[in-house]
Amino acid sequence: MKADLGRRRVSKKIDFFVESVIRQMTRLANQYEAINLAQGMPDFAAPARIKNSAVEAIQDDYNQYEITWGSVALREGIAKKAGEFNGIEANPQTDVTVTCGSTEAMTGSIVALTDPGDEVIIPEPFYENYVPATLISGATPKHVRLKGEVFGFDEEELKACFNSHTKAIVINTPNNPAGKVFTKQELSVVADLCEDYDAIGITDEIYEYIVYDGLKHVSLATIGGMADRTVTISGLSKTFSVTGWRIGYAIAAKEMTDAIRKVHDFTTVCAPAPLQRAAVEAMKMPDSYYTKLAGNYQKKRDFTLRALSEVGFRCVTPEGAYYILADFSELSPQDDTRFAQDLVKEAGVAVVPGSSFYSQHDPVLSKVRFTFSKKEQTLKKAAARLRKKFNF
Ligand code: GLN
Repeated sequence: MKADLGRRRVSKKIDFFVESVIRQMTRLANQYEAINLAQGMPDFAAPARIKNSAVEAIQDDYNQYEITWGSVALREGIAKKAGEFNGIEANPQTDVTVTCGSTEAMTGSIVALTDPGDEVIIPEPFYENYVPATLISGATPKHVRLKGEVFGFDEEELKACFNSHTKAIVINTPNNPAGKVFTKQELSVVADLCEDYDAIGITDEIYEYIVYDGLKHVSLATIGGMADRTVTISGLSKTFSVTGWRIGYAIAAKEMTDAIRKVHDFTTVCAPAPLQRAAVEAMKMPDSYYTKLAGNYQKKRDFTLRALSEVGFRCVTPEGAYYILADFSELSPQDDTRFAQDLVKEAGVAVVPGSSFYSQHDPVLSKVRFTFSKKEQTLKKAAARLRKKFNF
């Protein structure tokens, strides 16, 4: 007779995970043949030069494992770019790790740098993967809300989050979903607290080149003594419109990089080799590429803001990234999940319920997130569907 040990088939860690609401909305978009303004991914082509370079790398039989930390040429390219654009001094031999997307860089860094009992401060609204990464590490997420139209910190509330258990704070600038671009002054407050409490900054800077209205992207690692206590994360996905390539990286001082590399080594071995070759080309794009990228997105932002405001959404103008967190309370009394589910079915436009970017306490239920990382014609079509749905 078999013993009934009452054993679960799956790990308790899995209880921490909820299905990604963003990808769930993509599935609904496909099911209802809706326009997908939910998942932040372009529907337009990546630069030809980069695509060609990937094809050539495969044809040249560059198809085997790459060095675990990333190819030498790519790490050198990343270090050069970090110096010139971000003002971060990085040694390509010891401070750079190429990962499978910035998502792996973030999860790997949190796993590599935190322990059970540690606290990780995650300002909200936040992008969905920081919390499961913290929980799987056995650490505890602590949230502080970004306030008002400007999505700024209340300094007293932020300070109250720090204590002797605080191991790290996750800073996402430009922020997904709020579009907030943190200023040097705001980041200085964070830096001072990190130094006072001996905490690490882990930044998600994946939208660093998508900044509007002449604002400047600032990296936390460049402030005060943060260079030694910051992991700077970014990647190719958003800047070069290749979200499916999964090429990201983490820049950190040697001791932290050693730990991040160990987790990376045993998780994925290496990021895709031929795409790393193409990424080297990407790092050589001229300044004009980045100016055009931000300019094009600014036009898409302005079009989408106008279209949403016209039908009755209340929006805060994003300073960066490619999302709008729109308040629909004047259009419907529903909660955000219902609203998003009806919108995808009835209007044929998929969005993400805003609550998936907030912790469960004191929920925000009247907002949905639209992405405008789409062709002009896609945005126009979506705008027409929204006008029809809301009888404008
Ligand atoms: N970063 C993109 C977004 O926020 C895609 C993320 C995802 O697939 N989870 O929509």
